[in-house]
Amino acid sequence: MAKHYGMCFGVRDALAEAETVASRRPATILGELVHNEVVRERLDKAGVREGQLEAEGAPTPDVIVTAHGASDRERKRWASIGYRVTDTTCPLVRKAHAALAGLVLEGYTPVVIGKRGHVEVRGLTGDFPGAFVVLDEGEVESMPYAERFGVVAQTTQPIERVEDLLDKIRRRHPASEVVFKDTVCQPTKARQKALESLCKEVDFVLVVGGHNSNNSRQLVEKARRSGCRSERVTRSGEIDIEWFSDARVVGVTAGTSTLEESVEEVVGHLESLGGRREELPRPDTAGAFSGKKLAV
Ligand code: SF4
Repeated sequence: MAKHYGMCFGVRDALAEAETVASRRPATILGELVHNEVVRERLDKAGVREGQLEAEGAPTPDVIVTAHGASDRERKRWASIGYRVTDTTCPLVRKAHAALAGLVLEGYTPVVIGKRGHVEVRGLTGDFPGAFVVLDEGEVESMPYAERFGVVAQTTQPIERVEDLLDKIRRRHPASEVVFKDTVCQPTKARQKALESLCKEVDFVLVVGGHNSNNSRQLVEKARRSGCRSERVTRSGEIDIEWFSDARVVGVTAGTSTLEESVEEVVGHLESLGGRREELPRPDTAGAFSGKKLAV
């Protein structure tokens, strides 16, 4: 097992808050709380309906803003038309909002390194419609000149990609002042870093995470860049045993929206196929799950 994997505090707290609201009265969540099918099913069972953040209305008087956050404009719009708004935005997403707002206040042209259309990025740019969103060289090339750029990142982007794009922005506009506020969140960095170490010890990395989860996809991509074969599954039923045909050691990690019970279900399945899990010492870091090793 990677030394850091699985659900982060931001998602855990958002999930608990949404379930608490739903236990008192019917509620509509404005989008997917997180991009994880198992979590969505759990919320559905708890009576939480799904609506859309940009929609005109919701079927319940209570609405919940997801961990990915929303623009102030959207949050205020829901409150102004009479909905009770529960805001489960992760504090680290709020920090990214504050960083971007601060840069705009200081006169910088806002730039977000992140995936265009992703709900967190829509929330970040919602109050600053002139913000640039970049995730590849082409998008950087299309940025017109500005005297001063203020840059933040989507919280779940790999830091090396962010630094690479920052470098490209600086080379594209050498005469501009470019200020960067590092808003990639610590749990994302910890999981990416732990994956680097894991890849040195294993032949194959299995990522447990939702199919729409950005950070789970990033884990797969990073494992592959590190020379490991890698696949992502939400549940054990998606595993193809052929993946491990020539793997001696399989590494397991999980995205920040993945429940521990999903990881256990997948690892339990590997054990039932003959895998052997070895317990390793628990890492000396708050918030990490215990490190374990699974050999097949
Ligand atoms: S991935 Fe990071 S920003 Fe997103 S909910 Fe988790 S801790 Fe918060």
